[in-house]
Amino acid sequence: MEKVCPVCNALITVTALCPRCGLRLADGGAVENFLGPYSPYMEVNSLQRGGADTQCVHLLYCPHCGYDVRAAWELVTV
Ligand SMILES: [Zn+2]
Ligand SMILES: [Zn+2]
Repeated sequence: MEKVCPVCNALITVTALCPRCGLRLADGGAVENFLGPYSPYMEVNSLQRGGADTQCVHLLYCPHCGYDVRAAWELVTV
């Protein structure tokens, strides 16, 4: 049993959309130090008592307009 990030391990696909142009945001990879503003994902996960050791924060960006946002996913057990 091991806890892994579903995004890092390609278990799920990022489906967030750019709020500016509506295109699918691309996954820019995991972010080690989370310092940015909370994303909708982070707010949901915070309600579930998530912590740094149970979440993986990724930088999502829009390849079209350059918009970027951080989002956290709960680690899953495999
Ligand atoms: Zn990850
Ligand atoms: Zn965009």
